[in-house]
Amino acid sequence: MQTQNLGYPRIGSQRQLKKACEQYWAGKIDLKDLQRTAFKIREENWQTQLQAGIELIPCNDFSYYDQVLDMSLMLGVIPQRYAPVLTEVKANGETDLYFAMARGYQKDGLDITAMEMTKWLDTNYHYIVPEFTAGQEFKLFSEKVFGEYVAAKALLGEKAKPVLIGPVSYLLLGKEKEAGFEKIDLIKKIIPVYVEVLTRLKQLGAEWIQLDEPFLALDLSDKEKEAFEWAYRQIAKSIAGVKILVATYFEALADNAQWALNLPVAALHIDLVRAPQQLDAILATIPDNLILSLGVVDGRNVWKNCYERSISFINKAIDKIGRDRIMIAPSCSLLHSPIDLDPENTIDPEIKNWMAFARQKLDEVTALKQIVEGTNNLLQINKEAIQSRSLSEKAHKKSVKDRVAAITAADATRKSVFAARQELQRKRLQLPAFPTTTIGSFPQTDDIRQLRAQYKKGDLSTEQYELAIEEATVEAIRWQESIGLDVLVHGEFERNDMVEYFGEQLDGFLFTKNGWVQSYGSRCVKPPVIYGDISRPQDMTVRWSRFAAAQTNKPMKGMLTGPVTILQWSFVRDDQPRSVTTNQIALAIRDEVVALEKAGINIIQIDEAALREGLPLRKSNQPEYLNWAVTAFRIAASGIADQTQIHTHMCYSDFNDIIEHIAAMDADVITIETSRSQMELLQAFAHFKYPNEIGPGVYDIHSPRVPSVAEMTSLLTKAASLLPAQHLWVNPDCGLKTRKWPETKIALENMVAAAREARETINVELLF
Ligand code: GLN
Ligand code: ZN
Repeated sequence: MQTQNLGYPRIGSQRQLKKACEQYWAGKIDLKDLQRTAFKIREENWQTQLQAGIELIPCNDFSYYDQVLDMSLMLGVIPQRYAPVLTEVKANGETDLYFAMARGYQKDGLDITAMEMTKWLDTNYHYIVPEFTAGQEFKLFSEKVFGEYVAAKALLGEKAKPVLIGPVSYLLLGKEKEAGFEKIDLIKKIIPVYVEVLTRLKQLGAEWIQLDEPFLALDLSDKEKEAFEWAYRQIAKSIAGVKILVATYFEALADNAQWALNLPVAALHIDLVRAPQQLDAILATIPDNLILSLGVVDGRNVWKNCYERSISFINKAIDKIGRDRIMIAPSCSLLHSPIDLDPENTIDPEIKNWMAFARQKLDEVTALKQIVEGTNNLLQINKEAIQSRSLSEKAHKKSVKDRVAAITAADATRKSVFAARQELQRKRLQLPAFPTTTIGSFPQTDDIRQLRAQYKKGDLSTEQYELAIEEATVEAIRWQESIGLDVLVHGEFERNDMVEYFGEQLDGFLFTKNGWVQSYGSRCVKPPVIYGDISRPQDMTVRWSRFAAAQTNKPMKGMLTGPVTILQWSFVRDDQPRSVTTNQIALAIRDEVVALEKAGINIIQIDEAALREGLPLRKSNQPEYLNWAVTAFRIAASGIADQTQIHTHMCYSDFNDIIEHIAAMDADVITIETSRSQMELLQAFAHFKYPNEIGPGVYDIHSPRVPSVAEMTSLLTKAASLLPAQHLWVNPDCGLKTRKWPETKIALENMVAAAREARETINVELLF
């Protein structure tokens, strides 16, 4: 029985990599300095894992930016547009090329766009999407993996295990940039380079090599299955004497198990945290000799492992296949967990005793092995911690649980159907055709950020702070009035982040000091932790919405974050279904909606930016998720009168496959991101005959570029050709907090002008 780890966070315990990369990009340090930081992080990570007793330790899991981009560079998948970076910018060749692919290149007279980025499966980590052309060739280019293996071996000896993304998953993560071929057909061309890399690693002394194939646990076409079988047969045929470990995670092998278990590899890793149900089936059909790596310690969350449960899995496997064929591991790479719990000295000690970050998870893996082998007695202490959590009044509030249990269908339904609500809302709001609004936040200037920081530090009194926020709010309102926007917002100057702001005010959440997790490149996030039943001790936004509404005669939109988004962007508890936690948040948001209505707010927006992110990877699991996610939104939105108008906002692009569920949310108005796709996304809404009102974004807020009046009028004309014009709103793609004021002002003035032009040129019958 061996312990192993699949990957370790590479940002550095104090986010050293972020700082070093950003300084390198700014020209403040040179490549040597950057490399020195990277070297130290790798060494520290290996030492940590060695000391924790891990017997197979990953290398090449380090990355300056992203592990998929590393693979593209290794395999020579370098889009043509970057050629000048190599030929003309010789300075730091490979590194500059690498960062140019990640971030674009606007220097030395060159202007090259970055590669696309998208979410890594169902996580909040984002990877750089490989670009494939019809004539795609593969050729060993970057030698990073060899360098890192040699360094790891020097320190770890035979425990060093190089990690790569497997060939099939690598292809499936990419994108076809031209018509006329399927990326999976590139398998024939890519395998020779894999064989070359694996052979060299073997020659350098590698005993084990880990190939991540998360797609092995996803829905696959016949062609993709064949590609898996063919690819691994080729690898087995070409390389003897090195053991291949194929790693799956986030879902079950399920219908792929039959053939996946028979791939000619030495070991297979399965995720028993996300998909514990697969163990029995796998043990029933596992072929002789295949080693099974049991992913029992949750790599994606912050909770202490329940040893009793893990040991029951391990013992079951031992009974069936024997100790020698078992590895114990975290469920997936620890990239997705914060690094170290120990220094967190502001967490309530009782709750801290329920938690584990990456470093602690390594200890858990070792402890599990020792308990099974009878060489330690940590089981009892663990049992006590797990029991403390399950009994604690800090985590369990009867009144909250009772309220969730009592939710009925009526709680998730508005009093009247949309058509009836629309009529009442129109009478009350008296808005023109093509009403204009924004998504909520206005530019967060340095002054505003400093204000919040000073207040947090105690350098400002509540009075001083609130006065300053009031001033910024009033100024934003006066300006919105002056340019003629129809529905105003208060600007969200008091908010640091759309989830943290609510988490800080709800019971059941805690915040870490240093619990950073990589989001993309040098960007890290510090998600709140939901540790207990969630309730709302007092109003959260009423003070600011009421203040803002009192400054104007125009309608003022209240601004809330939706239950699914709050759930998705937090570490969630693992001791109850996510749907229950979401319903608790939904009830808290519902109470806030009701309180806003009582305070005279007639329009309330509930943002669900992350609703689609939560969609399960396997098709068969999606309906259940969509059902509870949509219901949670409806619970939040349905406690009010028909006259009160509910908006929702989503800023992602692919609605086609979930449009009926978006409609089922039954928001009176939905605002979405559409400008970059030139309204293409509206096709789904048009095709579905989306019944409610909709604001397709006409201003791409992801760039400082200011769209012209003509541009936005033409987008509106296009929208009106697809959807009933009397249902259309006019707004930007998303909130404006990352923009600067000067460009925002001109862009929104242009937007209002475009709406006025649309009112004159597009025929709309508004029925009151
Ligand atoms: N109301 C939020 C804002 O305007 C919405 C942000 C988002 O959708 N990501 O910033
Ligand atoms: Zn958005």
